[in-house]
Amino acid sequence: MSAEGPPRGANRAPSGGSAAAKPQAWGDHPADVAQFDVVVIGAGPGGYVAAIRAAQLGFATACIDEWTRDGGKPALGGTCTNVGCIPSKALLQSSENYALAGHAFAEHGIEIGGLAMNVATMLARKNKVVAQNNDGIAYLFRKNKVAFFHGRGAFAGKDGDRWSISVDGPAPASLAARHVIIATGSAPRALPGVAFDNVRVLDNAGALAIPDVPKRLGVIGAGVVGLEMGSVWRRLGADVTILEALPVFLGAADEAVAKEAQKQLAKQGIAIRLGVTIAAVRTGTGEVGVDYTDAAGKTQSATFDRLIVSIGRVPFTSGLGAANVGLALDARGFIAVDAECRTNLANVFAIGDVVRGPMLAHKAEDEGVAVAERLAGQQGHVDFNTIPWVIYTSPEIAWVGRTEQQLRSDGVAYRSGSFPFAANGRARALGDTTGFVKILADAATDRVLGVHVIGPWASELIAEGVMAMEFGASSEDIARICHAHPTLSEATREAALAVDKRTLNL
Ligand SMILES: Cc1cc2nc3c(=O)[nH]c(=O)nc-3n(C[C@H](O)[C@H](O)[C@H](O)COP(=O)(O)OP(=O)(O)OC[C@H]3O[C@@H](n4cnc5c(N)ncnc54)[C@H](O)[C@@H]3O)c2cc1C
Repeated sequence: MSAEGPPRGANRAPSGGSAAAKPQAWGDHPADVAQFDVVVIGAGPGGYVAAIRAAQLGFATACIDEWTRDGGKPALGGTCTNVGCIPSKALLQSSENYALAGHAFAEHGIEIGGLAMNVATMLARKNKVVAQNNDGIAYLFRKNKVAFFHGRGAFAGKDGDRWSISVDGPAPASLAARHVIIATGSAPRALPGVAFDNVRVLDNAGALAIPDVPKRLGVIGAGVVGLEMGSVWRRLGADVTILEALPVFLGAADEAVAKEAQKQLAKQGIAIRLGVTIAAVRTGTGEVGVDYTDAAGKTQSATFDRLIVSIGRVPFTSGLGAANVGLALDARGFIAVDAECRTNLANVFAIGDVVRGPMLAHKAEDEGVAVAERLAGQQGHVDFNTIPWVIYTSPEIAWVGRTEQQLRSDGVAYRSGSFPFAANGRARALGDTTGFVKILADAATDRVLGVHVIGPWASELIAEGVMAMEFGASSEDIARICHAHPTLSEATREAALAVDKRTLNL
């Protein structure tokens, strides 16, 4: 094991796997060094997608990842698959089903007696969903002939134009490659002086594995992870209090969306305290106490059964051997890259959470594809202006492009159109009429500058907004496109009509 840090993974048992495909050895190289065109370090959404795309383009490709699950097997898919996107959505779905059964089924005439939540079954299902995704990536590696090495990858040096990479695991290996793509991801940020124990003070992995519904759950940080995890456990009956340092709720979202979200979450019983400064976190008594100063400057104290700390994530470069080869990091510890993900080292690229930009799985994937395509002489490109954001609360929140407050501060003249789901037939049939679609378009050219959705299936509806912006559509283009009836997407068309003040159904 590397001296620079422990291996990552839900299960920190020694890893048992090794290369899934036979590495090639050719040219004038030591026979025990496996030669590749491309070595990818990290098999999260950035790394595994980069490896598959590189292999599709004809490169001899290897991918190294150290995440380990029960039984010492590799757990491909990184944070996203193991303790991020996938398990959180599994728990959100289970808890949403429970909430619907408790509160919404009756009006459909569905009467349920003795409704109960079996948390162990819910967690087992979540683990199964994760394992299916782990296995799916292993299958994709075999299908695309990506050689997989289970263990920690580290730069060992350079031999001619080839980077030497060591794999530190139960089956140690030495690899060499002309190109290296670093996709080592991120790790949860802890509060200064408050270590995660994943019993009382939980990071994202702990928040996804709470064995029973806590009576009092504290969440520090009202970002995406805090809101989603708070929602899961609130729906299951926990008293949830979210403490947020910023004075504004969901400042990154459009202000109208943020206002509606805050209203709806408060209605669900989630207490959100803004402008809070944490003074101390006390553990060790079977509970966790939090002392803080509230927005008015008053000293407050709260006691919880469990506390989720979701105050962001930090880039993960521990054990990568960055110093061995002079890989440059920026002041915040991210690997320094240019707009095309090039590091300061020749033929070494970095993508995903370990570099600047939004910490989102689809951003990592798209950077992985773009880098692989550039290696093949193609024109891979990621447009940060059209990366969608989604928060899977109820109601869901999704947006792409600029918010109304950003357009104002950028001095852009714009027109805005909104349409509420309350006036949408499909939403009424669903029994979920919360929220709206809002479209912002350039006042002069009508080009769509932002699309903001809060409401049912916002996560899916936003794809139309992304498509429109990618194609440089105007709001009139969206308004002229035939949308199936009855669908939630008709609200998007109506919002586009509203930009021109001519809705048909409002
Ligand atoms: C609770 C939660 C929910 C989230 N939900 C969403 C969501 O709904 N949608 C979304 O877009 N994003 C979501 N995210 C963010 C998303 O998970 C990350 O943006 C994404 O996983 C980043 O991908 P990555 O490939 O850069 O890194 P990671 O997924 O972090 O993968 C990095 C991999 O590299 C491995 N590794 C690191 N160093 C080494 C080394 N030296 N040798 C070998 N292996 C190494 C790690 O073990 C890991 O497997 C969520 C995050 C959390 C925590």
